[in-house]
Amino acid sequence: MIARPATQAPGIHHRRVGAVLVSALNDGVITADFAWLAGIPPEQATALHRATWRAIPPRITVNAFLVWQADGRLALVDAGAGAALGPELGGLPARLAALGITPGDIDTVLLTHLHPDHAGGLIDADGHAAFPRARLILHEAEAAFWQAPATEAAAIGEQERAFLALARAALAAYAGRVDLLASASPLPGVTAIPLPGHTPGHTGWRIGADAEALLIWGDVVHMPGVQFARPEAGMGFDIDIATARATRARIMAEAAADGITVAGMHLDFPAFGHVVTAGAGYAFVPEAWSPAL
Ligand SMILES: [Zn+2]
Repeated sequence: MIARPATQAPGIHHRRVGAVLVSALNDGVITADFAWLAGIPPEQATALHRATWRAIPPRITVNAFLVWQADGRLALVDAGAGAALGPELGGLPARLAALGITPGDIDTVLLTHLHPDHAGGLIDADGHAAFPRARLILHEAEAAFWQAPATEAAAIGEQERAFLALARAALAAYAGRVDLLASASPLPGVTAIPLPGHTPGHTGWRIGADAEALLIWGDVVHMPGVQFARPEAGMGFDIDIATARATRARIMAEAAADGITVAGMHLDFPAFGHVVTAGAGYAFVPEAWSPAL
């Protein structure tokens, strides 16, 4: 008898962006709670979520993205959670392996920020670099924040201390090959877009240019069922919730106006689509699947 699948097929989805190919790679999901939201009552968030036919309790998708550059080099945008957040996450290495890619094939990891669902996959169980040849590229404000004595002094809660320890361990594992953003274009055709608030150095990465460009916007949105309709809703773990709110409002308005394709670490897999205005807020229109790249 043929065994019935127990899980969805592994999340790998390719999209051509100009001369490069970008692959969305699903790392797993985080079982979340509406109480994590800020700036919207939980019952309103629940109602919005129900109206979009999403699972309750909410599940936050975690994606990373692989950029197949025109010169053949491979860059990751974020690295998933690794072992940092439990068995529902950490699928990225298996997604890469399914594409025939070993960790040593990755030349560069562009980081949106250093939270564990993005940076946990940078290190193995022993704290060593999971990508032995890769250099890290991140915003200088991100590294400075996590390394600051003031951040350590303010990290009182267990979760805050765990986040801090992981961010520092990731930076330490890549000592000598961490490039703090000195230019806005660290790789050909890739542009850093500062999106501060969620963390001080939170950065989006724009791939390509003009009408074909893709903006990988990191953690502008964590709960798509809520935050497109109500972009004022933030997350309790936004480091600066007011700045994150202003950034989200600005980038959604820009994306809706110029029609740029966006992708996000927490947009539902495969996470490519467009922002459109809807009522007083916005809606996300996922890109239709096509077999052709
Ligand atoms: Zn995140």
